Amino acid sequence: MSRIRGRDTGPEMSIRRGLHALGLRYRLHDRHLPGTPDLVFPGPRVIIFVHGCFWHGHDCSLGVRPQSNAAFWSEKITRNQARDREAIQKLGNMGWRLAVVWECALKGSGRRPLREVLGDLCTFIRYDSGYKQLDICALTNVENSTSTPQGETNTRHVSPRESGRKRPGPK
Ligand SMILES: [Zn+2]
Repeated sequence: MSRIRGRDTGPEMSIRRGLHALGLRYRLHDRHLPGTPDLVFPGPRVIIFVHGCFWHGHDCSLGVRPQSNAAFWSEKITRNQARDREAIQKLGNMGWRLAVVWECALKGSGRRPLREVLGDLCTFIRYDSGYKQLDICALTNVENSTSTPQGETNTRHVSPRESGRKRPGPK
Protein backbone atom coordinates (compact mmCIF):
# COMPACT_ATOMS: atom_id res chain seq x y z
CA MET A 1 0.00 0.00 0.00
CA SER A 2 1.39 3.36 -0.89
CA ARG A 3 1.62 6.11 1.65
CA ILE A 4 -1.77 7.51 2.45
CA ARG A 5 -2.17 11.16 1.74
CA GLY A 6 -2.30 13.16 4.91
CA ARG A 7 0.36 11.17 6.71
CA ASP A 8 3.13 13.68 6.21
CA THR A 9 1.01 16.52 7.45
CA GLY A 10 2.28 19.77 8.85
CA PRO A 11 1.86 18.89 12.53
CA GLU A 12 3.41 15.48 12.06
CA MET A 13 6.44 16.92 10.28
CA SER A 14 6.86 19.53 13.03
CA ILE A 15 6.86 16.79 15.66
CA ARG A 16 9.23 14.59 13.67
CA ARG A 17 11.73 17.34 12.98
CA GLY A 18 11.54 18.67 16.52
CA LEU A 19 12.09 15.32 18.22
CA HIS A 20 14.89 14.47 15.84
CA ALA A 21 16.58 17.76 16.67
CA LEU A 22 16.29 16.83 20.35
CA GLY A 23 18.28 13.69 19.65
CA LEU A 24 15.42 11.19 19.64
CA ARG A 25 15.38 8.49 16.99
CA TYR A 26 12.29 6.64 15.84
CA ARG A 27 10.76 4.45 13.19
CA LEU A 28 8.03 5.85 10.98
CA HIS A 29 4.64 4.38 10.09
CA ASP A 30 5.38 0.87 11.30
CA ARG A 31 2.86 -1.33 9.54
CA HIS A 32 3.72 -4.33 11.71
CA LEU A 33 2.08 -2.65 14.67
CA PRO A 34 -1.66 -2.13 15.19
CA GLY A 35 -2.85 1.16 13.71
CA THR A 36 0.42 1.76 11.81
CA PRO A 37 1.76 4.22 14.41
CA ASP A 38 3.24 7.43 13.07
CA LEU A 39 6.33 7.39 15.28
CA VAL A 40 7.72 4.36 17.10
CA PHE A 41 10.44 4.49 19.78
CA PRO A 42 11.38 0.84 20.27
CA GLY A 43 13.83 1.36 23.15
CA PRO A 44 11.54 3.12 25.60
CA ARG A 45 8.56 1.34 24.02
CA VAL A 46 6.67 4.49 23.21
CA ILE A 47 4.38 5.26 20.30
CA ILE A 48 3.23 8.62 19.05
CA PHE A 49 0.17 9.14 16.91
CA VAL A 50 -0.36 12.54 15.32
CA HIS A 51 -4.08 12.70 14.64
CA GLY A 52 -5.86 15.04 12.27
CA CYS A 53 -8.83 16.32 14.27
CA PHE A 54 -11.30 15.97 11.41
CA TRP A 55 -10.41 12.44 10.31
CA HIS A 56 -10.14 11.09 13.80
CA GLY A 57 -13.27 12.79 15.09
CA HIS A 58 -11.77 15.06 17.72
CA ASP A 59 -14.30 17.10 19.67
CA CYS A 60 -12.80 20.48 18.80
CA SER A 61 -13.19 23.32 16.33
CA LEU A 62 -10.96 21.58 13.77
CA GLY A 63 -13.04 18.43 14.06
CA VAL A 64 -16.34 20.00 13.04
CA ARG A 65 -18.06 17.87 10.41
CA PRO A 66 -19.54 19.34 7.24
CA GLN A 67 -23.30 19.78 7.09
CA SER A 68 -23.60 18.25 3.66
CA ASN A 69 -23.22 14.50 3.37
CA ALA A 70 -23.49 14.30 7.14
CA ALA A 71 -24.29 10.60 7.18
CA PHE A 72 -21.34 9.78 4.95
CA TRP A 73 -18.83 11.67 7.08
CA SER A 74 -20.32 10.44 10.28
CA GLU A 75 -19.96 6.83 9.22
CA LYS A 76 -16.43 7.32 7.94
CA ILE A 77 -15.21 9.12 11.03
CA THR A 78 -16.94 6.75 13.41
CA ARG A 79 -15.13 3.92 11.66
CA ASN A 80 -11.81 5.72 12.06
CA GLN A 81 -12.51 6.26 15.74
CA ALA A 82 -13.29 2.59 16.24
CA ARG A 83 -10.05 1.66 14.50
CA ASP A 84 -8.12 4.11 16.68
CA ARG A 85 -9.63 2.69 19.86
CA GLU A 86 -8.82 -0.84 18.80
CA ALA A 87 -5.22 0.03 17.90
CA ILE A 88 -4.68 1.90 21.15
CA GLN A 89 -6.06 -0.97 23.18
CA LYS A 90 -3.94 -3.55 21.37
CA LEU A 91 -0.79 -1.48 21.68
CA GLY A 92 -1.46 -0.92 25.36
CA ASN A 93 -1.88 -4.65 25.88
CA MET A 94 1.45 -5.16 24.12
CA GLY A 95 3.10 -2.91 26.68
CA TRP A 96 3.51 0.20 24.59
CA ARG A 97 2.98 3.61 26.12
CA LEU A 98 1.12 5.97 23.84
CA ALA A 99 1.07 9.67 23.12
CA VAL A 100 -1.61 11.12 20.90
CA VAL A 101 -0.89 14.58 19.55
CA TRP A 102 -4.03 16.14 18.16
CA GLU A 103 -3.66 18.53 15.25
CA CYS A 104 -5.31 21.31 17.28
CA ALA A 105 -2.37 21.27 19.70
CA LEU A 106 -0.29 22.85 16.95
CA LYS A 107 -2.85 24.44 14.68
CA GLY A 108 -5.72 26.88 15.16
CA SER A 109 -6.57 29.36 17.88
CA GLY A 110 -5.89 27.03 20.81
CA ARG A 111 -2.49 25.90 19.61
CA ARG A 112 0.44 25.60 21.93
CA PRO A 113 4.05 26.59 21.34
CA LEU A 114 5.78 23.75 19.51
CA ARG A 115 8.62 23.63 22.01
CA GLU A 116 6.16 23.00 24.84
CA VAL A 117 4.56 20.13 23.00
CA LEU A 118 7.98 18.71 22.15
CA GLY A 119 9.05 19.10 25.77
CA ASP A 120 6.04 17.15 27.02
CA LEU A 121 6.64 14.42 24.45
CA CYS A 122 10.32 14.26 25.27
CA THR A 123 9.59 13.83 28.98
CA PHE A 124 6.97 11.19 28.25
CA ILE A 125 9.37 9.24 26.01
CA ARG A 126 12.37 9.41 28.28
CA TYR A 127 10.76 8.91 31.68
CA ASP A 128 8.18 6.28 32.41
CA SER A 129 6.26 7.93 35.21
CA GLY A 130 3.47 5.38 35.14
CA TYR A 131 1.24 7.18 32.67
CA LYS A 132 0.31 4.82 29.89
CA GLN A 133 -1.28 7.41 27.66
CA LEU A 134 -0.67 11.07 27.06
CA ASP A 135 -3.16 13.18 25.12
CA ILE A 136 -1.98 16.52 23.83
CA CYS A 137 -4.53 18.88 22.36
CA ALA A 138 -5.52 22.53 22.27
CA LEU A 139 -6.33 24.31 25.50
CA THR A 140 -9.99 24.76 24.58
CA ASN A 141 -10.56 21.00 24.26
CA VAL A 142 -9.38 19.92 27.65
CA GLU A 143 -12.80 19.66 29.24
CA ASN A 144 -14.22 17.86 26.24
CA SER A 145 -11.45 15.35 25.97
CA THR A 146 -11.49 14.47 29.66
CA SER A 147 -15.20 13.82 29.47
CA THR A 148 -14.72 11.27 26.71
CA PRO A 149 -11.80 9.09 27.76
CA GLN A 150 -10.77 6.51 25.20
CA GLY A 151 -11.27 3.53 27.44
CA GLU A 152 -8.11 4.28 29.37
CA THR A 153 -8.15 5.03 33.05
CA ASN A 154 -4.51 5.97 33.15
CA THR A 155 -4.64 8.86 30.73
CA ARG A 156 -3.13 12.21 31.39
CA HIS A 157 -4.36 15.22 29.50
CA VAL A 158 -1.89 18.00 29.17
CA SER A 159 -2.88 21.53 28.50
CA PRO A 160 -1.00 24.78 28.89
CA ARG A 161 -3.09 25.34 31.99
CA GLU A 162 -1.56 22.28 33.53
CA SER A 163 1.95 22.23 32.15
CA GLY A 164 2.72 25.87 31.49
CA ARG A 165 5.07 27.78 33.69
CA LYS A 166 2.58 30.56 34.07
CA ARG A 167 -0.45 29.71 36.10
CA PRO A 168 -3.54 31.43 34.75
CA GLY A 169 -6.15 32.56 37.22
CA PRO A 170 -9.40 30.70 37.78
CA LYS A 171 -11.88 30.79 34.96
ZN1 LIG B 1 -8.61 18.74 17.92
